[in-house]
Parts: sequence; C-alpha cells; structure tokens
Amino acid sequence: MTSVTPISPQTLGRLKSAAGIGGWSEDTAEIAPLVAEWRGKYQGRTPLLLKPDSVEAIAAVVRICAETRTAIVPQGGNTGLVGGQTPSAQGDEILLSLRRLNRVRNVDALGNTMTLDAGVILADAQTAANDADRLFPLSLASEGSATIGGLISTNAGGTGVLAYGNTRELALGLEVVLPDGRVWHGLSGLRKDNTGYDLKQFFIGAEGTLGIVTAATLKLFARPAAIETAFAAVPTVQAAVELLSFAQTHGGTVTAFELIPRIGLDFVLRHVPGTRDPLGAAHPWYVLIDISLKAGEATGVAADLLVEAANKRLILDGVVAQSEAQARALWKLRDEVSGAQKPEGGSIKHDVSVPLSAIPAFIERAGAAVAKLVPGARPVPFGHIGDGNIHFNISQPTGVDTQTFLARWYEVSRAVHDIVVHDFNGSISAEHGVGQMKVDEIAHYKSSEAIDTMRAIKQALDPLNIMNPGKVVRVRPPV
Ligand SMILES: Cc1cc2nc3c(=O)[nH]c(=O)nc-3n(C[C@H](O)[C@H](O)[C@H](O)COP(=O)(O)OP(=O)(O)OC[C@H]3O[C@@H](n4cnc5c(N)ncnc54)[C@H](O)[C@@H]3O)c2cc1C
Repeated sequence: MTSVTPISPQTLGRLKSAAGIGGWSEDTAEIAPLVAEWRGKYQGRTPLLLKPDSVEAIAAVVRICAETRTAIVPQGGNTGLVGGQTPSAQGDEILLSLRRLNRVRNVDALGNTMTLDAGVILADAQTAANDADRLFPLSLASEGSATIGGLISTNAGGTGVLAYGNTRELALGLEVVLPDGRVWHGLSGLRKDNTGYDLKQFFIGAEGTLGIVTAATLKLFARPAAIETAFAAVPTVQAAVELLSFAQTHGGTVTAFELIPRIGLDFVLRHVPGTRDPLGAAHPWYVLIDISLKAGEATGVAADLLVEAANKRLILDGVVAQSEAQARALWKLRDEVSGAQKPEGGSIKHDVSVPLSAIPAFIERAGAAVAKLVPGARPVPFGHIGDGNIHFNISQPTGVDTQTFLARWYEVSRAVHDIVVHDFNGSISAEHGVGQMKVDEIAHYKSSEAIDTMRAIKQALDPLNIMNPGKVVRVRPPV
C-alpha cells in the first residue's frame, strides 16, 4: 500500500514542465515495455513517464512530488529481477527513467576513478574505462542494458565479485537527489574518509527507496595483460569447491568461477542457436574459470591448472579457450543458462547465498526438499559459486501445466529459503535485491531489530514515503 493520493492533472502538468522538452511521455507504446518486467512477473501502470536529462530537472521533479505526495519509481535499464523498477498496478506512481542522464563526466586514469551519470549503460562504462587503458570489472549478463544507477541501487554482483567485490566495493562517491528535492553532492574519489557516517552506503542497494542516484564515482583497476578462460567438467559440486580453493593458490588471479549443471548446459544446447558442447561426453557438473594475468606473469596457467586438477581427480575433462572468440563461446554457455530455461516452461527462481563450503550440502538438501514437494521438478542450480551465490532455479516437470506449477512458487520458495536461512545461516537475496518480490519474505526471515532499523532509516530519509513505496521495506503511510 502506498501513502499517495491519485495524481491530479494539475500535478501531472507541473511535472511535465519541470522535466522539460523531450523529458516526458504519455505515449502508451513508449511506456508499455517500461512497466513490464523482463521475466513478465510484474505488470505496472503509470499515467506519466518522466525522462529528464539533467540533475536540476530531476531535483525539480522530486520537489513537486514531495509537495504533492506523488510516489516516484526510479528506473534505469529495467533489467531488475525483483520488480523494484516496476510501478504499482494502480497507476498512482510516476515512472522516472534515468536513461537520458547518460554522460561520462570524467575518467581519471592516474587516480583510477571515473565519474558517470546514473543512466550510463554498463557496457559503455566498461568501454570508457577500456579507452583509458583501465578495467571497470563489474560484469553481468545484462550489461548491454543495465545502468550505473540501477547497478548502484541493487548493489549488483555479477561474475567479477570474486576478485573485485560487489558494486558497493566499487563505488567511491555518489550524487543523489534526496526525497525532499535537495541534491547531496557526494562525488568523492577518496579512498579514505572517516568523517562520520558513510552516507553513500545508505543509497547503495536501497533500490530507489531512499533517493535518486544521479551520478557515481567508481573505482578503476589495471587491465590484466591476459585472461585465460577454462571450461572443466567436475564429478561433484564438492569437487568444484575444492577446485576453486586449489586454483586460488595455483597461479594468476581467479577472477571468475561459475558453476553450470548438466541440465543447464542441455537447455542451452537445445535452445540457443550456435552453441555446442566443448567436451565430448556428458558430465554432471561444469565450471567456467577466468584467470587474469598481470604483465610479466607466465601464460599457460589455466592449462597447467587443468592438468594438475585432473591428477588430483578434481576434474574429469576440460578445455582452455585458444582465442577471444572461443572464450566468448564458453561464456555464452554460462550467460544463456537462465534464458534457456524459458522454452522449458515455468521456472521458480531463487537467488541465494550460503557459506562457500556449505554449497554442496545446500544443493543436495534443497534439491531433496523440492523433489518431495513437486516430484519431477528439475532444479538448475548455477551461477557464482565462487561467491557462495547460487541461482537455485527450478524448471517445471515436463508435461505439466505451467500455471499450476508456478502457483506453488511461494510454497517451494519457503522450503528452499528455510534451508538457506535455518540450516546454513545464508541469505535469501544474494544479489538481485528485494524489490516487491521479497518484501514480505525478508520481513519473515530478518530479525525485528533488523527490520525496525531499516524502517527507521526509511522514515528518517523519506518521511512522506514517496520514494519507490512498497519496495524493500513496508512502512505505515504518514497521517
Ligand atoms: C539476463 C540478466 C542477467 C542478470 N545478471 C545479474 C547478475 O549476475 N548479478 C546481479 O547482481 N544482477 C543481475 N541481473 C539483475 C539486474 O541486471 C541488476 O539488478 C541491475 O543492477 C539492474 O540495473 P538496471 O539499470 O536495469 O536497473 P532497473 O531494473 O531499472 O532498477 C533496479 C532497481 O534500482 C532502482 N533504480 C534504478 N535506477 C536508479 C537510480 N538512478 N536511482 C535510484 N534507484 C534506481 C529501481 O527503482 C529498482 O528498484 C541480471 C538481469 C538479467 C536480465
């Protein structure tokens, strides 16, 4: 439930003027794809899309929203997976797209920082860093659409977390339009600053519930001299965990370590044109490994790793990419796992983390619980095993009605999340956030002390509850 009244024509008129020429749209064809979520799980409505291209215009919009108690849903690339960027179905919230605020403000190669507007797409941010002979290590399958503001607001993870950390670790400073329309200029590139509360941390991972991120100063790194990519079959998940531990002491830096189950590979080979199994025979599990090498470090580390791992019986077979094209083809097998589930029917998805050493036991226990609830359901556990983060997706049994299967989402998720939290002290949202999908689920699992503290922060920063209401944590509407 939101704290807002329906938006009056007068307020809509004022918002349009504040957003400026080209800064708004009521065109239903333009709005339609922005109020539908990528997986089709959430469908919203809005009377007005705002798409201002300056911080001043955004601040003016937010001031009007505060004055009129109009709820705002910020949106970047609309690739979020928990419905955080989707307005309510009542049509009583405005959608604020940051996509036109998309300048690269500054790249400081010597200082290893870059400052970007919130609407810059991740792939363009990577290119900007690359052009300055630096690496911006954040990387995920949605990088062609996801924006800096969305990545900051979801504290996105991705495949580089193992070596470089989550987005939180990559952010040095932020610029934020606060819920009263003032602008907090926190674009510091400082790596040390102990002058009280670290305010940027409130907005990172807040999913637009505390303010609108308009720009960020981000960390850059030296580009590796080479990246060696290996694809290996492992007999068990336990072997995959042990292989990671071995690889981390073997040479170079392990910058990605991803798990793929055979069923996931089968789905990709069946549904994604141009893919092929790089190993001849079928194996139960696979890992995809990136090893980064600094200038001067000897090459051939990945090949040597596979030989030694085979001697230790940690792998059954493996290949090392011999070209960038081959590396891309191997990564495609990993990146397409989620998408390739779609043609297999309904899928109940979980984005969880447990301690790395507990992953084998978690996958086994959760798989058994799901099999008991829905015989024939097909778990496809994959993802960032190096971070203890598994996307525990479950494809429907073959031949059953999709809606009947999806109707059991809550029941199945409760069983999986109970195991995550109660058996392994894990997290029910490792990287995708809370949005509207998990707002009640985190209230169930988090302590009252944690939820009360979250609520207190929300009420202190956004007392009118106009910033993305109903997402992350519920608060009572103001009287
Ligand atoms: C194929 C695919 C693969 C993915 N892989 C990963 C992965 O590996 N790791 C991972 O972490 N995520 C992954 N995601 C999820 C998604 O890409 C990330 O959550 C991403 O950070 C969202 O960015 P966006 O710009 O699309 O944000 P949106 O989807 O537009 O918004 C996400 C949230 O941030 C808020 N928001 C957006 N911009 C702002 C802003 N400027 N100020 C304040 N709030 C804002 C929105 O209100 C919403 O709550 C994947 C998604 C897809 C479709």
